[in-house]
Amino acid sequence: MTAVITIANKLPVRIFTNSSCGLKSFRNIRELSNLQMSNCIFCKIISGDTPAEIFHQDDKMIIFKDIKPASKHHFLAVPREHIPNVNSLSKNQIPLINDLIAKSKEVLADKGGNLDDTRLGFHLPPFNSVSHLHLHVISPVSEMSFVSSLVFKPNSWWFTSVDQILEKLEKSKL
Ligand SMILES: [Zn+2]
Ligand SMILES: [Zn+2]
Repeated sequence: MTAVITIANKLPVRIFTNSSCGLKSFRNIRELSNLQMSNCIFCKIISGDTPAEIFHQDDKMIIFKDIKPASKHHFLAVPREHIPNVNSLSKNQIPLINDLIAKSKEVLADKGGNLDDTRLGFHLPPFNSVSHLHLHVISPVSEMSFVSSLVFKPNSWWFTSVDQILEKLEKSKL
């Protein structure tokens, strides 16, 4: 039996679910996720295949400059793991989110940014331009253009503040 699955970039993937082809379903799922990752711009930045202005990296995350900054400081804190978006998060990933926030604040402070005039949040699907979880860190908020303030409007349909997402995860059962 053959299943055709369409993934984020609209590339159809043919998966062989017939055991006679010798592939276990586990391996199929892993291959599919490898393919998703190989097409993901942030995974390419993490692997070093695509250049970016990197401010910090460790075993959990990478922080780099947004290619279209919405203010003087605008960077993205991205977990190394390919997590598609905030809806893919579970309660046990709260520490990861807190780490992204803490490290982002450190980087911003190092760069002389004002933490009291900073927006931290995530785009909500389907409004996320890249399907790899990324925390937007933008400062100063007071210098954002009208359009940028709309694009990164906290707690709108398309953008969620870190506080809102943490509150939601705390309440979730998983
Ligand atoms: Zn990715
Ligand atoms: Zn985004």
